Amino acid sequence: MPATLHPASTPTHLAAAGSLLLITGGSRGIGAATARLAAQAGWHVVLGYASDAAAAEAVVAELHALGVMAWALQADVADEAAVGRLFSQVDTLCARNALVLRGLANNAGVVDRAQRLDEMSGERLRRMVAVNLLGSLYCAREAVRRMSTRHGGTGGAIVNLSSVAGRLGAPGQYVDYAATKGAIDTFTLGLAREVATEGVRVNAVRPGVIDTEIHASGGQPERAWQLAPQIPMQRPGAADEVAQAVVWLLSPAASYTTGAVLDVTGGR
Ligand code: NAP
Repeated sequence: MPATLHPASTPTHLAAAGSLLLITGGSRGIGAATARLAAQAGWHVVLGYASDAAAAEAVVAELHALGVMAWALQADVADEAAVGRLFSQVDTLCARNALVLRGLANNAGVVDRAQRLDEMSGERLRRMVAVNLLGSLYCAREAVRRMSTRHGGTGGAIVNLSSVAGRLGAPGQYVDYAATKGAIDTFTLGLAREVATEGVRVNAVRPGVIDTEIHASGGQPERAWQLAPQIPMQRPGAADEVAQAVVWLLSPAASYTTGAVLDVTGGR
């Protein structure tokens, strides 16, 4: 007997009409690149950001020029109440503009200075876990509450930003960061299976060394190019090259892909 295709499984890289994508950490780097590519695929976009309102608004202006609706909303993903308020604002935008939240890119993330674990402060460790792990859990929880058919939703897709550090461990650099990203991989697998029959797909992209400002924020602005000799392709990746994978996983073209962790690492 031939396999029955899901009725909505016509492969397409375009978002369904009226689809809204929330990207945390959308003001620069991989999040901003994802926003631009997603807009080209027809997504309307809410960008979350932590503090740089001007950068977020500049990305929003680019998205408007691409012909989609877009907004920038401030929310520290480490703050559970702030994430709740962010999703309430998303609900209001959806109601006012006839949009449906169908995508979440859990992209906000931080690194810190290169240190050994025995040098790290408790404050640093708590921040790392709060932003990179708890932030993704809070946002995914709110998204599932809206997307899952179990809650009356119509389905959707979540993409978590992991890191190759999660499988390399980042010794002497930031084992705390690496540990949060290893946890993201596990979380991706578990949540994907938990909601697999509820119309929600959950995947992760595991970037290698990507040329963004995150390295400067960790006090190593030259890090991406310094590591080039250790990368099989002998260069860092560009934010766009990661965004391509994120937008594909969000799209209906990835309709049978869930629980996947996709390396975008130049072979690292
Ligand atoms: P980035 O250039 O440093 O951008 C980080 C973004 O996250 C900014 O928009 C920032 O907002 C936002 N953000 C930071 N802390 C936040 C918080 N507490 N709440 C809400 N938003 C917050 O980073 P990136 O390189 O694009 O990295 C994006 C994701 O990919 C991260 O999860 C990172 O771990 C992962 N990744 C990156 C690399 C790499 O080499 N670049 C490699 C592997 C994985 P503001 O502008 O307002 O501060």
